[in-house]
Order: sequence, then structure tokens, then C-alpha cells
Amino acid sequence: MKTVDSFSFDGKRALIRVDYNVPLDVDMNIQDDSRIVASMPTIKKILKDGGSVVLMSHLGRPKKGPEHQYSLQHLASHIEELSGASVSFSNDCISDDSLKTSHNLPIGSIHLLENLRFYKEETIGDNSFAERLAIHGDIYVNDAFGTAHRAHASTSIVANYMKEKCFGYLMAKEVSNATMLMKNPNRPLTAIVGGAKVSDKLLIIQNLLNVADHIIVGGGMAYTFMQALGGTIGNSLFEEDRINTCLEILKEAEQKNVKIHLPEDSVIADDFNNNATTQYCDSNNIPEGWMGLDIGEKAIQSFTDVISNSKTILWNGPMGVFEMSSFENGTKFIAGAVAQATQHGAFSLIGGGDSSAAVKKFGFTQDVSYISTGGGALLEFFEGKELPGIIAIQ
Ligand code: AMP
Repeated sequence: MKTVDSFSFDGKRALIRVDYNVPLDVDMNIQDDSRIVASMPTIKKILKDGGSVVLMSHLGRPKKGPEHQYSLQHLASHIEELSGASVSFSNDCISDDSLKTSHNLPIGSIHLLENLRFYKEETIGDNSFAERLAIHGDIYVNDAFGTAHRAHASTSIVANYMKEKCFGYLMAKEVSNATMLMKNPNRPLTAIVGGAKVSDKLLIIQNLLNVADHIIVGGGMAYTFMQALGGTIGNSLFEEDRINTCLEILKEAEQKNVKIHLPEDSVIADDFNNNATTQYCDSNNIPEGWMGLDIGEKAIQSFTDVISNSKTILWNGPMGVFEMSSFENGTKFIAGAVAQATQHGAFSLIGGGDSSAAVKKFGFTQDVSYISTGGGALLEFFEGKELPGIIAIQ
């Protein structure tokens, strides 16, 4: 895998695709700078080599051209502070002026380009737009795993116009962790899949049947499996058109000797509300008018047993409505079990916004092996799809 360590950037300009899609408040102050902080090792390595850096990113979802609230200018002074390098900003990412600034960029300094998505050409992957972006640098560096599943101009097409290309440290770490989990895991490998919609996660489960030893299914998506198996699920989340796929998955799992674990019991509620009346109930026998909003105590115990015997763990999606305290226990205890297994030597990879938020909420951030920055990108990777941002470099 080619990374920034494969090059000396002495006298070179690196064009880096970063993911600076950070939350800003109404006064345009950065609310969470972790994505900017995470890009610093790559930037600093290049500057230390004697190179200079051109940064390009998207921010938010601008609809029709430039919008002040989505300007990357709001980030410039913070990038300067974190990097210790001087940062110049161009208010257009492909203008003649911006290209001139890149060409005259002093060694050891940074040039920040305006939001790529102010041009619709970025998301449609326009060739001429990508070709112009490529003029900014000598070596293309992709360090934006969160957008690696998009064939956008800056994440993929630009690489066609640059001779030298590589992964930044952040992207390299994401790709090597995810690849190791799929290609060379210590066994047993357990995948924990949860969240609301079964339809979002069927492809990942189907692909994981080829590598996992155990697949734990929790969250709202478990109830479509329960119904497929002939259970009654009251008013729990349910996707009727996915019943057949659930049955096919269960059959294929048996053929491939993969154990699928469904939650034996649930915390059920008479309303989707933190103050609803709740009780424990078998997951396949939920009365009409009630809905399963978390896994129950027996499920927590049996899932914990599987997790504690695992050597590799992938977790995507919460076990219940963990945002409400009445339904957080399943997710909290599973996060604790993953942390404990990690302490005993397992490798654990947490992916997807909700599972990462849950791990943070319950205080286990330092106790898992790796929290991925890629939601959609990670999901597509584990669905077995080739990511344009990875292929472009490879
Ligand atoms: P997803 O985006 O599909 O990973 O789903 C995440 C969301 O699923 C979270 O906001 C959870 O509150 C929700 N969720 C998890 N379990 C359930 C459940 N049993 N019923 C309804 N929503 C759930």
C-alpha cells in the first residue's frame, strides 16, 4: 500500500483530499475539530520533508454555488494554529488565481482551497474539473476515508491526472484495519450488526457470511428476522419486503457454518418514548400495541458470551434506541463486552456514526482497538464493494 511514507516531499507540492466536513455553530465557530486534528500527521510529515501542502475538501451540502455558511475560510485560522504553518486561502478551488497561489506556494506552507462542492462538477465527477484540480499539486494524497465510496472529482477522478498518488496516514489506517478484518482475521470473528433498518444492513450481513464465524443481530432490524421465523413482534420495526432475504440469509448461514445470534428477549414499550411503560418479553412473542426497543437481559448475556470468546470483532449499529436512557442498556453492555474482549487481546473495529457515538457516550473510546471515521464508506467496504477512492490510489 503506497502511503505518504513512500515519498519524500522535499520541494514537492502535495494536493491532499481531506475530510473537513466539520460542524460549525451559527457564528461559524468549529464545534468539533477532530477531523482537522486527525489530518495533521499527514500534513506535518509533508511539511517536515520540505514540501508544501494544498488542502481540498467539501463542507456541508451547498445547493447552488457558494454559500457563506459552507465556506472553508472559517477553518483557515484553526488549521494554522494546529499545523504551525502559514495558511493562505483561495475563495475558488479552480480559479487562475488559486492555481497561481499553489504554484508560488513557499516550502513549509499551506494553501487551503474553497469548498469543492460549490461546483456541481465535484459530485458528478467531471473530468475537466478534476484535471484542473490536479494542476494544484505534484503528488495526490487521499486522506478522506469518509468519502472514499464516492467517485467524485477530488476523491477519485483527479488521480487519473496525477502521476504520483498515495494514501495519507488516516486513510491508510482505515484501509489496513478493514482489510485485515476481512482478509486475515484472528478467529473467531464476530460481527455485531444493529440499527433501525434491516434493508440497510442485509448486504453487509450477506457478505459477512463469507468471513465471519458469528453474526450477532440486534436493534430494530432483528424483528424482521423474528417475524420471518414465525414470531409475533407487535408494533416493532418491520420490513415485510425483506422477509425472504432474511430467510435466505439464515439458510445460507447454516450452509456456511456461520452462527447467527438473534436476541432471545427484548425490552418492550407501549410507546416510542423514554417514559413509556416497559417490560421484558421474548422477542418472538411481543403483544399487539407493544414494540421492542432494546435487547433484553438474556440476549445481553448470550451476546456477551459470544463476544468474550471472540478474537476479532466488527460492530456496526446499536442494539436498541440507545439515545433514550430506558433503552440504552443493551448497547451499553455490548459496548462494555467489546471493550473487555479487547482488553483480553481481541481486535475490535467500530464503524458507523451511531455505534461510534454509543462507544463515546458510554465512555469506552479508549478501550476499543479502532473507531472508523467512515460511515457509508465502511459499510460499502464490508458489503464487498470496491471503493472508488481506494481504487484510484491502488
Ligand atoms: P441505523 O442508522 O440504521 O444504524 O440506525 C440507528 C438508529 O436505530 C438509532 O438511532 C437507534 O435509536 C435506532 N434503533 C435501534 N434499535 C431500535 C429499535 N428496536 N426500534 C427502533 N429504533 C431502533
